[in-house]
Amino acid sequence: MSDRRQFLKQSLLTTGGLAAASSLLAKGAGVQPAVPEVAYKQLRNQQVVVSTWDFGQEANEAAWHVLQQGARAVDAVEAGVRVPEADPENQTVGYGGRPDRDGRVTLDACIMDEHYRCGAVAGMEHIMHAISVARQVMEKTPHVMLVGDGALQFALANGFTKQRLLTAKSEAEWKEWLNTSEYKPQRNVENMLPGGKYNHDTIGMLAMDAKGNMGGACTTSGMAYKLHGRVGDSPIIGAGLYVDNEVGAATSSGVGEEVIRIVGSHLVVELMRMGLQPEEACRKAVERIARRNPEFAKETQVGFLALNKHGEYGAFALQQGFSFAVRTHTTNEIHQAKSLFGG
Ligand code: ASP
Repeated sequence: MSDRRQFLKQSLLTTGGLAAASSLLAKGAGVQPAVPEVAYKQLRNQQVVVSTWDFGQEANEAAWHVLQQGARAVDAVEAGVRVPEADPENQTVGYGGRPDRDGRVTLDACIMDEHYRCGAVAGMEHIMHAISVARQVMEKTPHVMLVGDGALQFALANGFTKQRLLTAKSEAEWKEWLNTSEYKPQRNVENMLPGGKYNHDTIGMLAMDAKGNMGGACTTSGMAYKLHGRVGDSPIIGAGLYVDNEVGAATSSGVGEEVIRIVGSHLVVELMRMGLQPEEACRKAVERIARRNPEFAKETQVGFLALNKHGEYGAFALQQGFSFAVRTHTTNEIHQAKSLFGG
């Protein structure tokens, strides 16, 4: 037996940890750790919802409605991102999402609450509301992430309905793409083009509730025409989303591989912990991506969005065109993030 296994075995037996461990597993994610000590005070007793891209505005409204009922931030973000998930015109999230190169719509999503509890699904087919499956993974299992057929099986066992997610429009575009099969993710400058509202990517949403607790959700159909089985940053806790109730939360959109490499959202939160404002923290993360390969970065889009424990928010992107939506008691706006390239 290896030293490590010996150590684990001994410590379990000697401390009575075995019983504790098995009861932990039995209770699964239902275990409620203590709310971490809050290191920051909210400046205003202000609820806030922020989300990536301009289509986030409609999603924010749904989340806001839930927050006004006195619900937790995690409930609000789940309700919010379900809006684009159900929208067939939005070809980057949920139903109507662009397929992978085999013509299969595979969804990635994750969710995180104020207790560091989190759930995720990756590469899941046939279920519109990937975020709610992720929530169930968080609530009902001792795990964080389920993938592919396992995620589908879990969803079906928990009352979700199987349906065809590939719409006629997305199928027609995919067939057109097959003529060249050129895999070239677009930079997200569509925001500036007329009629480009739905050409963007993931929705990442962060919220703070009336108690000052935070939650976040992130959901996407991923990069269009990706290899079957490819998973981006969006369902990966720490990459596409991170929530630390002591400090703040962050999420991302753009080329997921670049975000995973730097564990982007976690990095942004840690930078806020060190005292940076949300926009500055996002900028530092973007600069880290750019430093690795400046030439590649010029052709790539990644944007981060962050919310701190004061209720302050900010964003920063590699390229111009990354927008985000903000909802507070006094605000319902879309902002353009500053960017490294193009102003
Ligand atoms: N981050 C997503 C992914 O890599 C897609 C995007 O937001 O552009 O799958």
